[in-house]
Amino acid sequence: MSTKTESRQGSSQASSSQTHNNYIGGQWVKARSGETFASNNPADQSDLIGLFALSSAADVKDAVDAAEKAYPAWRRTPAPFRAELLMKAARLLETRKEELAQIMVREMGKVIKEARGDVQEAIDMAYYMAGEGRRLMGATVPSELPNKFAMAVRAPIGVVGVITPWNFPVAIPSWKIFPALVAGNTVVFKPATDTPMCALMLVEVLIEAGFPPGVINFVTGGGGKVGMAIVEDPRVRAISITGSTSVGKQVAGRCGELMKRISCELGGKNAICVMEDADIDLAVDGALWGAFGTAGQRCTASSRIIVHKSRYKEFAEKLVARTKALKLGNGLDADIDVGPVANKSQLESVHNYVEIGKKEGAKLLCGGNILTDGDFSKGFFHEPTVFGDVKPSMRIAQEEIFGPVTVLISAEDFDDAIEIANGTDYGLSLAMYTNDVSRAFTAMQELEAGIVYINAPTIGAEIQLPFGGVKQTGNGHREAGIAGIDQFTEWKAIYVDYSGRLQKAQIDTHGDSPAVKE
Ligand code: NAD
Repeated sequence: MSTKTESRQGSSQASSSQTHNNYIGGQWVKARSGETFASNNPADQSDLIGLFALSSAADVKDAVDAAEKAYPAWRRTPAPFRAELLMKAARLLETRKEELAQIMVREMGKVIKEARGDVQEAIDMAYYMAGEGRRLMGATVPSELPNKFAMAVRAPIGVVGVITPWNFPVAIPSWKIFPALVAGNTVVFKPATDTPMCALMLVEVLIEAGFPPGVINFVTGGGGKVGMAIVEDPRVRAISITGSTSVGKQVAGRCGELMKRISCELGGKNAICVMEDADIDLAVDGALWGAFGTAGQRCTASSRIIVHKSRYKEFAEKLVARTKALKLGNGLDADIDVGPVANKSQLESVHNYVEIGKKEGAKLLCGGNILTDGDFSKGFFHEPTVFGDVKPSMRIAQEEIFGPVTVLISAEDFDDAIEIANGTDYGLSLAMYTNDVSRAFTAMQELEAGIVYINAPTIGAEIQLPFGGVKQTGNGHREAGIAGIDQFTEWKAIYVDYSGRLQKAQIDTHGDSPAVKE
């Protein structure tokens, strides 16, 4: 939906109760086009969350102008002071946690407990990255020459572009924006068009915390126009994007041509392996949560479950019984286990995979339908679905479905399970259920993934460890933990020679002259 609005400058973020603007250079401004787009509740399309600026390259230029102008002063602001603002943001997020969680349920459908967890992740990240303001560790090393000091410090990069998906609409922006800001960068932030309200509320928190004008800029609109304009602007020195592998490849390709730093966190096809010695009930608990939490719309969703052939039947029966008992509905109701998927095209895409699975010869064990009865007809609900007798080469076992669908694969033995788990293009999160300590350690060594769980499902990362994947899940960067700072800093090596004479590295110490002359 698109509507026209009139004057451009707004004194607050909302020019009417439901119309929301971009935030550029410390001002709430309409898109230059004056156009807006709607964000609606995926559980009930008649529930309008708000209208948001449908921005274009011209708005991105304004945002980059502001970020570029703010950068020199922000870069020179001592990091502990930058961190104090982040600490304030953490406390404000705590105050607004419930309000943000409720909006999140309305805007993208995850159930309320998970929405609170999403906001909590941002709170944790704010406190963690605020701590980095008093660390931002560099390195001092001995010089090979006498009377010479050698060190490396972290420097900010400049203006960074942050492009985020809708599935963790507060947590994921926080993983990028908080380390970027504490490291001294200024930010142009474009959230997914499905979750602009959550993103806007996060920006409001940063404004209230006192981040100066131009340090954080917020531009809403589509990926092709707004996202690409951020990528294309030569003054944006780094891009951090989380999204699908296809979009990530497109953005990374362009950044490669522009010689721009790019960090991608992309798709996954995660697996839980369940060995014959595992606690099967524990593994079923994990599989249920891993596969159907957030309606399967997690990059780390357990979308494959690889079970030792001797326990396959028992596991399948238990999982199917538990899946059938899941309660679907509007996530604001505390009794609901699984909410809607995020939008219509997502619903169609998920269901299309169910049809593909049937055609490929997989056995539909439960679910498989779009729900259209009663209140379900107002939103985008898909039954939690389990396929059995799945072959590792089937498309439903290889491609990211990103919905409440999981597949069961039978493994001959431990080595076969590891081979199947590693046998996709992705490498985000893999899990092993076993009570054998040697197998647990072998799995940690052999599973090709950025994240490995033992006796826990593929979801549930904590912010103090690096997050990201190998193979087509990413391009070698990590978010969160200390590694999360690397994305947003440049190393600067500094040598201070206080010998008072010309000293030649690699020559004076290894050539004719002795290292130290008496
Ligand atoms: P998406 O790729 O459609 O969009 C992600 C973001 O990129 C959005 O803001 C979108 O507007 C923008 N975008 C789209 N095209 C663009 C372009 N050409 N140039 C610049 N920006 C562009 O992803 P989505 O549907 O929002 O999210 C789901 C995907 O995200 C899944 O594949 C999921 O696995 C992935 N994801 C990965 C992680 C991770 O950390 N690995 C975490 C969450 C989600």
